[in-house]
Amino acid sequence: MTRRILLRYSAEKAAEPVLASVIKETGVLVNILYADMDTKGGEILISVKDSDAERIFSALSKRGIEFQEIKDAIRVDWDSCVHCGACVSLCPTKALYLKEDASLGLDEQKCVLCEICVPACPVRALKIPRL
Ligand code: SF4
Ligand code: SF4
Repeated sequence: MTRRILLRYSAEKAAEPVLASVIKETGVLVNILYADMDTKGGEILISVKDSDAERIFSALSKRGIEFQEIKDAIRVDWDSCVHCGACVSLCPTKALYLKEDASLGLDEQKCVLCEICVPACPVRALKIPRL
């Protein structure tokens, strides 16, 4: 089983090779699912094996990186969705995408629960799981 962890970088931390040093220290193979970073900071979504998560948490804390485990994903009410695609271009991680047959697809592993897509849906088919 894998766990998804969203790392938040300040401008100061964005200038440091934080993730590289975490990987070097722990020896954990990290899968980068999404990254949005510039000189002002940003976010990186990674996934790691369940058994490696605690080591990664510890190494991130040591370096002063804010992080949050993402345990859920946006919910799509498939009975309501009309596959208009309005949500797709807004999704920063490409968790929402159009399949070859032009119907909506959701890659739950890529969702960071940013909620950007929710107000874009004309039929309110997108819901944050805690609501
Ligand atoms: S909550 Fe954010 S990451 Fe998840 S599907 Fe919507 S726009 Fe994409
Ligand atoms: S905006 Fe709503 S109706 Fe349109 S594809 Fe996305 S979830 Fe479906």
